[in-house]
Amino acid sequence: MKYIFGPVFSRRLGISLGVDLVPFKVCSMDCVYCEVGKTTLKTLERKEYIPVDKVIEELKRFLSKNPPVDFVTFSGYGEPTLNSGLGKVVEFLRAEFPEIPIAVLTNSSLLFRDDVIEEIKGVNVVLPSFDAASNDVFKKINRPFTDLTVEIIKKGIRRLRKETDVDIWLETLFVRGINDSPEEISAVGEFVFEISPERWQINTVVRPPAYNIEGLSPEELERIKEIVGYPATDVIGRSSAKRKKMPVEDIKAEILELIKRRPCPVEEIADALGLLEEEVRIAVDSLVKEGKVKYVMYGEKKYLKAGS
Ligand code: SF4
Repeated sequence: MKYIFGPVFSRRLGISLGVDLVPFKVCSMDCVYCEVGKTTLKTLERKEYIPVDKVIEELKRFLSKNPPVDFVTFSGYGEPTLNSGLGKVVEFLRAEFPEIPIAVLTNSSLLFRDDVIEEIKGVNVVLPSFDAASNDVFKKINRPFTDLTVEIIKKGIRRLRKETDVDIWLETLFVRGINDSPEEISAVGEFVFEISPERWQINTVVRPPAYNIEGLSPEELERIKEIVGYPATDVIGRSSAKRKKMPVEDIKAEILELIKRRPCPVEEIADALGLLEEEVRIAVDSLVKEGKVKYVMYGEKKYLKAGS
């Protein structure tokens, strides 16, 4: 499979079948905390970066086996709403697999557009990012495409709230020394109350990031939750979602597919693939010997990354 990956274990969505709609690394931003890596094509241009008919073919083949997935999620290598065929894939899923919930992870940069709002109406959950309420902080943390401003991001999220029925799980990712000042937290909190999302998910850097930055501690995130006081706030940590057994034909290939998109610790790979940690370790040892993966330390945890 080239354009779908997993199912992977997601801290927010449980067992999620990922769909890539853009290749590495096409995005309208170049966030300092990005798990995928540095952006190589920063753009706001919508086009069919990946042929959606091919994506639909892969989804049809995989989902017709009735795998136990909690969500089909548009995420992956970059910003999914940049693909002008997003609506076609959503329409296909709604028509053929109406029982499977659809989620879209977005950096919110194209939600101001009529076509994107129309296409997104068919999904169940949108997880838009909102990391900064002032333009200087926005530039530092999200390193956006030149034309983007906080006002455009806010306009898009407001349209999502007013013009669609989707559930909104707004995400703010906090980075030490960038968006964690009392003034910024209070301004972000004000917008959270204005939008009134179903969930406000506060997060921090937990995997090796694109740039050299530091996350906050769980206690600091709890403190932000208290200060803002929004009732439906989740501090994102490792989920305790039940593991489901997935058909894994080739463990090594599945591991490679998974860590190409984001570095993962062994226990998370085991959760994502429904395997025992021991089975994953044996496959990983062999991949390390072949020079296809390597371990990197982040904080006190060991992550697996693609490459020698
Ligand atoms: S975190 Fe998301 S929005 Fe930011 S650079 Fe990475 S893919 Fe793009």
